[in-house]
Amino acid sequence: MAKRHTELFAAWSWICDECGREQWVRGIQLESEHLPEEAQDLLEDASWWVMYPEMVVCDSCETKFYVKQGIDDDAEGWEEEI
Ligand SMILES: [Zn+2]
Repeated sequence: MAKRHTELFAAWSWICDECGREQWVRGIQLESEHLPEEAQDLLEDASWWVMYPEMVVCDSCETKFYVKQGIDDDAEGWEEEI
């Protein structure tokens, strides 16, 4: 049988506070050349960067949540500059 190939996409997972189910949302992938210099310095040799969406919606109960991400306070600012 011939080998078949596929491409993987980076995603974020989160737990819905309303129904408790695990959810997945596809990350927003950016090539490093599209980032400001400040971000490129942090990335060093990485060729792409995955950002998270501002808002997510639960697939099960349709509750909407704003994303609060403690690990990367500057990400929102980068998104606005692009
Ligand atoms: Zn839910």
